[in-house]
Amino acid sequence: MLELPETTTIAQQINQLLVGKTVSSVIAGHSPHKFAWLNLEPSEYAKVLAGNRVLSARGVGMFVEVTLSNSYLLFHDGVNLRFHPEAGPLPAKHQLLVNFDDGTTLSASVGMYGGLYCWEKSSNFDYSYYQTALSKPSPLTEDFNETYFRELLAPAAVQKLPLKAVLATEQRIPGLGNGSLQDILWQAGLNPHRKLNTLSDEKVENLFLSVKETLKAMTEQGGRSTEKNLLGQPGGYPVQMCADTKGEPCLRCGTEIRKEAFLGGSVYFCPDCQPI
Ligand SMILES: [Zn+2]
Repeated sequence: MLELPETTTIAQQINQLLVGKTVSSVIAGHSPHKFAWLNLEPSEYAKVLAGNRVLSARGVGMFVEVTLSNSYLLFHDGVNLRFHPEAGPLPAKHQLLVNFDDGTTLSASVGMYGGLYCWEKSSNFDYSYYQTALSKPSPLTEDFNETYFRELLAPAAVQKLPLKAVLATEQRIPGLGNGSLQDILWQAGLNPHRKLNTLSDEKVENLFLSVKETLKAMTEQGGRSTEKNLLGQPGGYPVQMCADTKGEPCLRCGTEIRKEAFLGGSVYFCPDCQPI
């Protein structure tokens, strides 16, 4: 799933590889997928996008937002975006193909679920999940500071929650999802089950620093090793706590990494470094 390190990485690659290209043709909804969310009829995508030039891209929380001359393209969650620099094998299944005037292509295919949206600049895309991501400071910016973080955590209803729910649900921190969460908590030495109101002031500060530094490291290294970038290559940040490391020794202490189902997803942690 795309999270902030990956949406930022992919946006940077779009800025390097796609800016200046003009959309020549578009195929949407080619492979039926129950959980590929489109905001328009498939036939409308070509009308909105064809003839548009790519101007820029950025990561907005879990979203990759692409600005074209007269429209926007937006991708999120489990969308696999790939750039195809020349005519060649395209994915067998795809939900969006954007062909450019120089013969290159951008393809988007959905894994478990994901959204592919586009709209004209003269209209609005009224999607609350996206609007929330736009309205909050990114953890990669200075606006996301310790004062802001402590304000986010202050409400009594939030204080009662386990750390997984605090950090990775309700879009409290756009772009921080269940994937990035695991290493953030491992770096801070905190268990995902632990309730926020049991943390000392110092632990809250550690948690803040880990949110900032871990997401920054993941982004600077081109995303997490468990996800792929626009060229189909895994990210350079080696994830310590994930499905691949379950049962392996913790890098810090050697204890076996544990997996548990918790709050509608898996959590991975070191029972020794991250006691409950
Ligand atoms: Zn450990």
